[in-house]
Amino acid sequence: MAGEAFLKSIEINFQQAIKLLDELGYDIGLDQGLVNQILAANSTYLVRFGVRLRGEMHTFTGYRSVHSEHFEPVKGGIRYASNVNQNEVEALAALMSFKCALVEVPFGGSKGGLIIDPKDWTTDEMERITRRFTQELAKRDLIHPSQNVPAPDVGTGEREMAWMADEYRRLHPAELNAWACVTGKPVSKGGISGRTEATGRGVQYALQAFFDHPMDVKKARLSPGLSGKRIIIQGLGNVGYYAALFLSTEDKALITHVLERDGSIINKDGINILALKEHLIKFGTVKGFDGFVSEGIDLLEAEADILIPAAMELVITAKNARMIKAPLIIEAANGPVSAEADDILNEMGTIIIPDLYANAGGVTVSYFEWIKNLSRIRFGRMQRRAEETRISALIEGIIALTGSDFPEHLAKKAIQGGKEIDLVRSGLEDTMRNAYEVISKTWNSDKRIKDLRTAAMMVAIKRIAQSYSSMGI
Ligand code: NAD
Repeated sequence: MAGEAFLKSIEINFQQAIKLLDELGYDIGLDQGLVNQILAANSTYLVRFGVRLRGEMHTFTGYRSVHSEHFEPVKGGIRYASNVNQNEVEALAALMSFKCALVEVPFGGSKGGLIIDPKDWTTDEMERITRRFTQELAKRDLIHPSQNVPAPDVGTGEREMAWMADEYRRLHPAELNAWACVTGKPVSKGGISGRTEATGRGVQYALQAFFDHPMDVKKARLSPGLSGKRIIIQGLGNVGYYAALFLSTEDKALITHVLERDGSIINKDGINILALKEHLIKFGTVKGFDGFVSEGIDLLEAEADILIPAAMELVITAKNARMIKAPLIIEAANGPVSAEADDILNEMGTIIIPDLYANAGGVTVSYFEWIKNLSRIRFGRMQRRAEETRISALIEGIIALTGSDFPEHLAKKAIQGGKEIDLVRSGLEDTMRNAYEVISKTWNSDKRIKDLRTAAMMVAIKRIAQSYSSMGI
């Protein structure tokens, strides 16, 4: 069962990192009891609730798992899919704890899911189902600004988060921080600019950080720079779309393959991602777009420099790992590479930028949104005009002193930059770059640390252990 294999993969990665920390002589104060405590999910709530739709009662099954409460609130997305199951939700919750520790976001890990195919229901029905699910979660503080803060994941987005926030506010009309009960809301409903693009944007920053480390690029047998690199991307949803869009338009990489549910698009000169997304939204399929082929998962094995699985877990397994040709994989999705495939790819010398780092952009910007909701002020609102005035004065001074013109494009760049979206991107870039620096340093510090995944997990475990020990546990 996929969920079980996913959970197992995380456990294997965790145990390897623990073993290495021990072998390398790091004293992080972890006895076996605490190791077990860190790994296990603290609780998983299963709920069945009925909603009367189309004249009859329909029963839905949902989960919310809390992995670790070393920091509260705990944080993690809510997934709507027909294959949601307890193991998968627990695996994703564990990954959230490690992810938050890695990018220094002060949350514990959680994850939720509802067994549903959103395509089976109308918008009104989805709203009623989401509101009922929210009521069930709220009863047990599994949605709560200071206890448990959901976010979007597969099958959910701004729309579902807005319904959840609104339902929570109805249940708690006097709660001052009610908007902070979920993140990923529309900007008009307490969201933050840049949250929708955040995970894909984070994937872009992660790749930029990787390419700024020549030693790591050499290990992947790649030439320097992202420009002109051939990329295969699986999944053109929230994460895949923004990653592909920014990498192609800003870094001049070539998206040569887009793999979707019902076929793929191939263009060796680079696919126009914006046009493809518009087509996908309009027709609900990639069929009919230039370069369409009916093949799907097999194209993960095509020639490329970078492979970005951005759809779902366990798409690279022992079955197809040996056939993967891209020397660099960045896990935009959670858990796309199984533990067996990870070993095979490592043997082959393929470099993998792991999920717990690569897709942490979403939770990072969720953290910014949560802070914005608690402080009830848009980032940059107080400083923006004051900064503009100060920098304009500085530029005027330079012009007066030198008697030369100040290049207009630079002046514009220097004066602007204090908008919420600029601050969010700056905070996200800083977070992704700092985290990569630490992971890469750990990876290159000892030959026994065989890959970035183990290095990332070691950093995350050290940080979680530190916070346990500061609590006196
Ligand atoms: P999404 O539902 O917006 O997009 C998923 C895309 O993958 C869809 O376009 C879907 O058609 C496609 N897809 C599904 N099955 C496929 C298959 N077999 N082959 C090819 N394409 C397929 O979901 P998302 O939010 O983009 O999440 C994608 C992954 O990223 C998940 O693993 C999720 O857990 C992870 N993630 C998401 C976020 C976030 O902020 N949304 C944050 C961190 C991690």
